[in-house]
Amino acid sequence: MAIQRTFSIIKPDATKRNLTGKIAAKFEEAGLRIVASKRIQMTLAQAQTFYGVHSERPFFGELCEFMISEPIVVQVLEGEDAIAKNREVMGATNPAEAAEGTIRKEFALSIGENSVHGSDAPETAAEEIAFFFSGLELVG
Ligand code: ATP
Ligand code: MG
Repeated sequence: MAIQRTFSIIKPDATKRNLTGKIAAKFEEAGLRIVASKRIQMTLAQAQTFYGVHSERPFFGELCEFMISEPIVVQVLEGEDAIAKNREVMGATNPAEAAEGTIRKEFALSIGENSVHGSDAPETAAEEIAFFFSGLELVG
């Protein structure tokens, strides 16, 4: 597997509880390099666009409101098989189903307030990175 880049968000429930460093450490311990990182607050329109794929789901409104409730930390992670590796480190969407040692098992509060987002495929990773970062912010 080649070196990949993936997109990550440390969500409001985690930034609010000062878990940014602990979550970043989990990525680094798994061999993922944080090649870009910034703390931002999304607008409602940005959250609705970012989660557009879920617009028909019953939790869409709640999800977008949650994602703008506090600042978030958006990051680009790089490494061998980074997309799958990141999702492994994150754990299952529902923390009750997440494996021991994963970020969601250790830190998530609920299926909605689940501390992290990670891209699910190379296409979405490229789109999501471009949504939040300019070329100038991404060193080679
Ligand atoms: P993410 O896309 O955030 O990395 P994921 O791929 O594990 O997570 P998705 O199915 O893409 O999960 O859902 C996106 C996000 O929507 C979840 O991370 C969670 O915050 C929220 N979500 C998913 N299912 C529910 C639900 N049943 N109730 C409330 N919120 C939910
Ligand atoms: Mg997803």
